[in-house]
Amino acid sequence: MLRPHRRALVGAAVLSLVSAAAALAQPALVGRVVGAVGSGRTVLPGIGALVVVLVAAAVLGAGQQYLLQRTAEGIVLTTRRTLTDRLLRLPVAEYDRRRTGDLMSRVGSDTTLLRATVTSGVIEVGGSLVVGIGALVAMALVDVWLLLVTVASVSVGVTTAVLAARRVRGLARLAQEQVGAMSAAVERALSAVRTIRASGATGREVAVVGTRAERTFDAGVQVARLQALVSPAGSIAVQGAFLAVLGLGGYRVATGSIAVADLVSFILYLFLLVMPLGQVIRAYTELQTGLGALARVQEVLALEPERDDVPEAPHRPGTTTVLRLPAAGDPTPLLELDGVDFGYPDGTQVLHGVSFAVSAGTRTALVGPSGAGKSTVLALVEGFYPLSGGVLRWAGTDVRELPRAALRARLGYVEQEAPVLAGTVRDNLLLAAPDVGDDRLWAALADVGLTELVQRSARGLDVPVGDDGVLLSGGERQRLAIARSLLARPALLLLDEPTASLDARNEGLLRRTLTTAAADRALLVVAHRLSTVLDSDQIVVLDGGWVTAVGTHPELLETSPLYRELATAQLLV
Ligand code: ATP
Repeated sequence: MLRPHRRALVGAAVLSLVSAAAALAQPALVGRVVGAVGSGRTVLPGIGALVVVLVAAAVLGAGQQYLLQRTAEGIVLTTRRTLTDRLLRLPVAEYDRRRTGDLMSRVGSDTTLLRATVTSGVIEVGGSLVVGIGALVAMALVDVWLLLVTVASVSVGVTTAVLAARRVRGLARLAQEQVGAMSAAVERALSAVRTIRASGATGREVAVVGTRAERTFDAGVQVARLQALVSPAGSIAVQGAFLAVLGLGGYRVATGSIAVADLVSFILYLFLLVMPLGQVIRAYTELQTGLGALARVQEVLALEPERDDVPEAPHRPGTTTVLRLPAAGDPTPLLELDGVDFGYPDGTQVLHGVSFAVSAGTRTALVGPSGAGKSTVLALVEGFYPLSGGVLRWAGTDVRELPRAALRARLGYVEQEAPVLAGTVRDNLLLAAPDVGDDRLWAALADVGLTELVQRSARGLDVPVGDDGVLLSGGERQRLAIARSLLARPALLLLDEPTASLDARNEGLLRRTLTTAAADRALLVVAHRLSTVLDSDQIVVLDGGWVTAVGTHPELLETSPLYRELATAQLLV
């Protein structure tokens, strides 16, 4: 993470060394001025040099601070970019396992903690160490005995501080995990706020978030306790060092072993040693906090992203990795499921030997009871999960031999839940085809019967749709999503019909939309309302993950008891 910023970091390090040298020169200059006063020599050159060094140290210090803060912000920025890139490219199964709020807190709160780690942790420690070590050397040159007394008292404080800081990392990680859990709880509550309000569960949800916040608080209090232990240990050590140096120094001046000017220099060096020591200890604690957060960032970065630009399997000689469409008259189906078995990573076996084919330009409907595995079939066609068995073919080629992104570019996908994103109608339409002009957007809206809705607003295409499209009705959301998919001109449209009941008008509009959509492409529609798919070229009946029948509506009424039952329940026979 530091590598891209190495020039700025080297710059800051050089500035830090120069300002350390300037800081170290000050006591010597003061000693010289005191010596000059004592011996009656002129003090002006000494004072002049001191002023120059003071001003230079201050200016360099400011420059170093700026460089460091900037670099720290830069590192936070790169980390956020890398992390977001990884977060959005994880295999879909990862999102099933993880909590959205927790993932979000890694981009927000964890990366923020890295900033302090960089500024205090990396360079300030370096600069402080230089000043500290320089001070120690200078002190040794002035008087070894005074130095020994200093080191003895200071090491007590340092040992206590280091022991305490070591525990901070674990606590920081714990605190950040609780922040993650808290964000997840907030996200859960906000995403279902209507249900929660209607269920009278607001108080309980607030309490859940509160409990998470309390755990963060507990970890924070433990860190505070450790820090409280560090401060008195530090100040006792420092005050002890000053008293010891003053006592022993006074004695040695009195006995004539050292000059007053040397004692003054020594005490100033002691200041120089103590200040960076405090900084190093603080930085060490912050470094531990940052490392706790970094571990959470790296946990995500360590996950293997989905590679959608290369085929999953090496292609066999004689086959093609180029995505093609069957030419007119070619009997090869556009899409073919051949004995597809599938179980979700949690172990539930959902599909058993599912086989059917979708020919170019035809309409296929998937029907069956709730939980039969219909939406799962669409997820597999999109390549969201690897198959457990069987083969999925696109125009005769195993899809594992094709780059997934290229395949997805040929597919339109309208998911059942939340098919609309927060933003405007235009944002939503441009999602899959970013370069399309306004006239095509209006034409797409007309195809799905949404022109009137959009024209009603003075903002036209820029009318907001709300978070998850809440400002639209269920049917409007679905039709807007279909318009979006069609703009990308897919060869196959996968449509997961909403389970929510659509009114007769919306159902009519959806049927009309499907007819428009089917004009020059194939359709694979998961249908809950048989009325929308009665005229499909084929209907696949799924039950408990098995294909129990395939045929047209009239055929299935004859051959499939389950289909007849579904049709009867929907008053279609
Ligand atoms: P519905 O008509 O109610 O939408 P469906 O036929 O589309 O149902 P699927 O959504 O495909 O059914 O689900 C089939 C089975 O897989 C269900 O039993 C469900 O519990 C399970 N399932 C669905 N998604 C997941 C997932 N992400 N992880 C684990 N199991 C899942």
